[in-house]
Amino acid sequence: MMLKFWGTRGSIPVPGDNTLKYGGNTPCIEVRSSNNELLVLDAGSGLRELGKKLQKDNYNSLINILISHYHWDHIQGIPFFLPLYNEKSSILFWGENSDGQPIESILSSQMSSNYFPITIKDLAAKIKFKEVKIEDSFYINGFNITTFRVNHSSPTIAYRISENNKSIVYMTDNELNIEKNSGDSDLLSVDKLNKNLIEFCRGCDYLIHDSMYDEATMLLKKGWGHTSNITLALFGILAEVKNLVLFHYNPDYSDDKIDQLLEETSKILKENGAATKCIAAKEGLEISI
Ligand SMILES: [Zn+2]
Ligand SMILES: [Zn+2]
Repeated sequence: MMLKFWGTRGSIPVPGDNTLKYGGNTPCIEVRSSNNELLVLDAGSGLRELGKKLQKDNYNSLINILISHYHWDHIQGIPFFLPLYNEKSSILFWGENSDGQPIESILSSQMSSNYFPITIKDLAAKIKFKEVKIEDSFYINGFNITTFRVNHSSPTIAYRISENNKSIVYMTDNELNIEKNSGDSDLLSVDKLNKNLIEFCRGCDYLIHDSMYDEATMLLKKGWGHTSNITLALFGILAEVKNLVLFHYNPDYSDDKIDQLLEETSKILKENGAATKCIAAKEGLEISI
């Protein structure tokens, strides 16, 4: 399996001098199977560059795109995804029904005339949609995929993707639970309050997870559906994750700030004697698993 990050930022794209290292595009990850078959995770602004690459490579096989949820930062790349304008392309969008609406109607409204000059029906590619259910299991291109509900302000899915005994979990936009009254995260409360999610992630090779805030900011943002790097580190230890990937950064965080978050997270893992390693996702990063 191979991963490539095309967008790592939460909320809104943030181009500029302060985001050159980790990137300013919103979530999009390319996953390749051992047979080089493609799976795309989320369709944030990073999807645009991935689309250009697929066009350049004349990629004409079915493109499967799994959507975690429909907040703007996870779908805003769709209207600018070049394969949609190519009659040789076939694209299958996977996502949950939300607020009583199926994925087809949600993504069609995103491209209705008030928002965009071209509607989804006018696109040249063959486009299909498939509903994803929670705690379900299915196969795409040899990947075994299981789903789980996470804790966010809108219904959101985590995906565990396995192939040849290797697995990744994509779990963004999730607020890990900690004791409401305690100031800081601690192992005991993370363990007690996140048992199901810990089991879902148990032993995975890579956990790609929201680490939107530092611990001090997190105290002001409880209930917003995101997680601090410290709580995430404790969660990674409990789930015996092999590699933790910091992801979905606060748009206000500079490259220097993300360097600090990474250093702090690695320190917590080390202090707890964990085997878990930590990296910070950045645009263009490729990982072979
Ligand atoms: Zn988001
Ligand atoms: Zn969200």
